[in-house]
Amino acid sequence: MVKLLFCLFNRHTPPGRRADWDGHSFVSRCARCRSPIRRAGKGRWRKDTADAGDAG
Ligand SMILES: [Zn+2]
Repeated sequence: MVKLLFCLFNRHTPPGRRADWDGHSFVSRCARCRSPIRRAGKGRWRKDTADAGDAG
């Protein structure tokens, strides 16, 4: 049983190097928890939320 520790800390991992461009940033789906994720920087992926808030 693998605990999704990285995911719990909002550090997700896309499945490989493929990602989709939504016109604003790269989006993909986490290979671990299957949540929609959005690239927040080089090698940094955060959970993609429906809210438009970019705080942080
Ligand atoms: Zn994840």
